[in-house]
Amino acid sequence: QEDVFKKLVSHCKEYGFVFPSSDIYDGLGAVYDYGQMGVELKNNIKQYWWQSMVLLHENIVGIDSAIFMHPTIWKASGHVDAFNDPLIDNRDSKKRYRADVLIEDQLAKYDDKINKEVAKAAKKFGEAFDEAQFRSTNGRVLEHQAKRDALHERYSKALNENNLEELRQIIIDEEIACPVSGTKNWTEVRQFNLMFSTEMGSTSDGAMKIYLRPETAQGIFVNYLNVQKTGRMKIPFGIAQIGKAFRNEIVARQFIFRMREFEQMEMQFFVKPGTELEWFKTWKATRLKWHKALGFGDDHYRYHDHDKLAHYANAATDIEFLMPFGFKEVEGIHSRTNFDLSQHEKFSGKNIKYFDPETNESYTPFVIETSIGVDRMFLSIMSASYCEETLENGETRVVLKLPAALAPVKLAVMPLVKKDGLPEKAREIIDDLKFHFHCQYDEKDSIGKRYRRQDAIGTPYCVTVDHQTLEDNCVTLRNRDTMQQERVAISELNNIIADRVSI
Ligand code: ATP
Repeated sequence: QEDVFKKLVSHCKEYGFVFPSSDIYDGLGAVYDYGQMGVELKNNIKQYWWQSMVLLHENIVGIDSAIFMHPTIWKASGHVDAFNDPLIDNRDSKKRYRADVLIEDQLAKYDDKINKEVAKAAKKFGEAFDEAQFRSTNGRVLEHQAKRDALHERYSKALNENNLEELRQIIIDEEIACPVSGTKNWTEVRQFNLMFSTEMGSTSDGAMKIYLRPETAQGIFVNYLNVQKTGRMKIPFGIAQIGKAFRNEIVARQFIFRMREFEQMEMQFFVKPGTELEWFKTWKATRLKWHKALGFGDDHYRYHDHDKLAHYANAATDIEFLMPFGFKEVEGIHSRTNFDLSQHEKFSGKNIKYFDPETNESYTPFVIETSIGVDRMFLSIMSASYCEETLENGETRVVLKLPAALAPVKLAVMPLVKKDGLPEKAREIIDDLKFHFHCQYDEKDSIGKRYRRQDAIGTPYCVTVDHQTLEDNCVTLRNRDTMQQERVAISELNNIIADRVSI
């Protein structure tokens, strides 16, 4: 699986999906640029989300708030004081780690050990294998499970109490070694604030320290009453936003999974107090359905309900996706109570309560948040779409089986040869279709090579123009996944493709 991941990363670079930032200066840690194909896929993901949120819900509208915001917002939201990660250094390797991540990796190791035992037994016993019974009776499994449970309990308690010394003690007691040097020479654990800051205004005026937003949500909270009043919105209603967020992540790893500059698609849903847990359930189910509609298979998703809740939340779950490096969070769904709005009321001194015209009451709405990382969604789609196939003739092809609606290029048009009026005919087809979907013209190399190139960027359809086309105005339409070819009339192409690549 790690191998597949490495291949995916180089594929992303080779075909213009994702480049390391500042590549000719050897890159910048955990910052990436999207190339000519990547930007198309990313835009399509954003459009797919925006349509399902804003266009399909009468009571959800969008905004686009600024990245720079008044610094008191981050005081009110708790980010200045508490948006921290526990950091630990290894004295030998001088490498820096997140203490919580080291412990979570250790928990995953126990899980791995258990899964290995189960897999071994399943192989040995074949069809007669009863997994549930094996898990509850096998000595080795029970031993690993007991260690895992004890660690989990101790770790959760330390997190809840924000006990940094205990986090360090766990790392020492579990004999967790530095992944680079293999040594166990750890420093104390310190809190590290993840927000980037800069200065606004000239220094002679007295510059103001401001932050690059670490989440887009606060831009929605401070605008909620503007939107409610001007949009005449009635509770329950939602505000959606897509935009950049910045976090000075300590451990930058796994490509675009954890970046320092990334993009979020967030929707805050404002509800009447007391109804929030019902709405939490509704959004939890709705969001999973949205993910599954992409067709990668239901087994690629799972919920991870939080037992440790942030101080402002009364329910929280993650939707996890099976990445090449295991199940990982792609989206968070949180019931944020009225924490943020109450805090902004307190810190701004303004009344930002909602007036309910039906009951003549004023109250601070409760909020359900759905928050998804565009880049993580991008990575999940790329990793689930990347395939290496062996063909009947023994050759291999790399194909990106992207959902057609998200594919960067929908249709490639190719003249069979570079002469006899075929290129002109192919251009004519593109000139007609380019207003409807992203087309690409390609005349270089053999037709087989050209198909391979389109497979590698996930183009769902290729059209080939041959000599026969000049006589009957028909072309060959090739399907990326099945590689099957059909003969269709040029006049039908628009309808056929539109039908097959729409969301
Ligand atoms: P993690 O536990 O992985 O750090 P988080 O719980 O801090 O994530 P949230 O604050 O809930 O994440 O952010 C919502 C979503 O934003 C996440 O589900 C993820 O998709 C995305 N996201 C958060 N941090 C990053 C990052 N550093 N790089 C890319 N995407 C991110």
